[in-house]
Amino acid sequence: MEVRPIRFECTGCGNCCKGRGEVYFTGANIRGAEKILGIKGEEKKKFRRKLIQTKRNGLYIHMTNGRCMLLDDQDRCTIYESRPLQCSTYPFWPGFFQDEDDFSFLKNECEGIGRRGGEVFSKLAIRRRTLKTDRDFKELQSGKDKFSL
Ligand code: SF4
Ligand code: SF4
Repeated sequence: MEVRPIRFECTGCGNCCKGRGEVYFTGANIRGAEKILGIKGEEKKKFRRKLIQTKRNGLYIHMTNGRCMLLDDQDRCTIYESRPLQCSTYPFWPGFFQDEDDFSFLKNECEGIGRRGGEVFSKLAIRRRTLKTDRDFKELQSGKDKFSL
């Protein structure tokens, strides 16, 4: 797809943390989350059992079923400073800009896309950001079959 410039400004709606999907944590993200939430000792095992359902390429995966368990009632991330790369780089994931269907999905999910007064991202800026996301995300993975967001 021909990437078009977009306007974007996050409204904090929390939609990108809802629905069914996978959130990819590193060990450092999890340790950071435990520190922020004040989870210590034996409680850590319980927290990790609840948060992580599976593992892939060295990443720990939280399978969301409706909403990420770290999203609070006000739709705020409770571990913001230690959130995964996937969360901090949204919506600049390569997968959202590869074809019209994926871009439409993004526009439906994120009310910050096309927002009046939002920051303008040129085609080049989008390309740079998505390439960086891809490079950084793959650097977090072990193994040969590295995947993209
Ligand atoms: S869906 Fe978009 S506007 Fe809403 S919180 Fe996520 S990035 Fe921000
Ligand atoms: S870790 Fe935080 S930012 Fe990421 S999906 Fe969960 S609530 Fe959202």
